[in-house]
Amino acid sequence: MKLYEYQGRDLFTRFGIPAPEGVVVSSVEEFEAVKDDLPYPVVVKAQVLTGGRGKAGGVKFADNADEAREHLDNILGMEIKGLTVEKVFLVEMLDFAQELYASVLLDRSSRLPMVMISAEGGVDIESVPDDKIHKMTVHPFTGFSSYHARHLVGNLGLDKDQAKQVTSILSKLYTTYLESDADLVEINPLAITGEGKVVAADAKVSINDAATFRHPDIEGGEEDLTALEKEAQEKGIAFVQLDGDIGVIANGAGLTMATLDALEHYGGNGGVFLDLGGTDSPEKVMTCFRLMKKANPSVVFLNLFGGITKADTVAKGVVQVLEEEGLDVPLVTRIRGVNEEKAREILEAAGVEATQDPKEAAQLAVKLRNEAAGTNGGGA
Ligand code: GDP
Ligand code: MN
Repeated sequence: MKLYEYQGRDLFTRFGIPAPEGVVVSSVEEFEAVKDDLPYPVVVKAQVLTGGRGKAGGVKFADNADEAREHLDNILGMEIKGLTVEKVFLVEMLDFAQELYASVLLDRSSRLPMVMISAEGGVDIESVPDDKIHKMTVHPFTGFSSYHARHLVGNLGLDKDQAKQVTSILSKLYTTYLESDADLVEINPLAITGEGKVVAADAKVSINDAATFRHPDIEGGEEDLTALEKEAQEKGIAFVQLDGDIGVIANGAGLTMATLDALEHYGGNGGVFLDLGGTDSPEKVMTCFRLMKKANPSVVFLNLFGGITKADTVAKGVVQVLEEEGLDVPLVTRIRGVNEEKAREILEAAGVEATQDPKEAAQLAVKLRNEAAGTNGGGA
């Protein structure tokens, strides 16, 4: 779950990280009600769940209410990287003497939290040369001590007072990351003001989606889901959209992953997968199948190992959808397990062939996918 800047800022301040004061508005009317209390000059900042707002024209400065209203008018409704601005954060403008960068994120290659800091903040961190970014992975047994923080900050060449403030902020940022079950907490820029105060002038926070239930107090934006994934979540179905175009319906996380791997092995790409889980309701299978159709795959590959989810239950659900609304792409099925003979009978009666061999089925799915791509004059 990604947080909007103003929400991330609130989270930071809860952990003692200094940040400028601001107000969020979502209309000119709301602005009119607060405009006289704003700490001018202010920064007028688009609230969207993406970075690079400055470059896109979503961050403007205003000396007074009239200027702020004008910027607000321009920014509300603006599109930034395909996202529409619905809220604007009006925040005290500070004079920046220097812009640093600080973050804590989950480093997947070392499987550890990683703390990063750079004296070259305020720009896209991807554009900062690697030797200007100072990194430290943190072992959970030792934690991130003030000694670690001092050591990292020592790379920045700051004077003593600022180094002390940055060290304290870095420790608090790590605590924020840990206590909030975040995947990422980023301050860019971490600004040093003309008066020598260090403040978090931006906030990028992402809470691990599997842990949001532990943090009902953390307000967030949308979860990182597509519209179909959201629909599936509401229906209690495990459904994930990927880059490829072969739709996979399997049961159990293990078989589902193995099916995606098998497709990849034979040169295909899973586009969406759906885990039937343990179900014995043809209705649930129908719901799953309908969701799959909405994802517009070029082939549907049903790979089933019947257990709690009996093979014939799935076959019944699939055939019912086919009879009621059809399917205009090829369906490849591989069925094993509980009631497999019955399942094959049901499918074959409806004109659907069912194989037993997962390799053969995966190869067939890829072949049909390639044929479909060929007749359409190119892949998806
Ligand atoms: P982003 O472009 O989405 O990362 O938005 P930021 O919140 O980081 O703002 C972009 C840039 O605007 C910053 O890097 C600063 O250069 C500038 N900026 C934002 N707030 C202030 C401020 O209070 N004072 C000054 N001087 N510059 C600011
Ligand atoms: Mn920023």
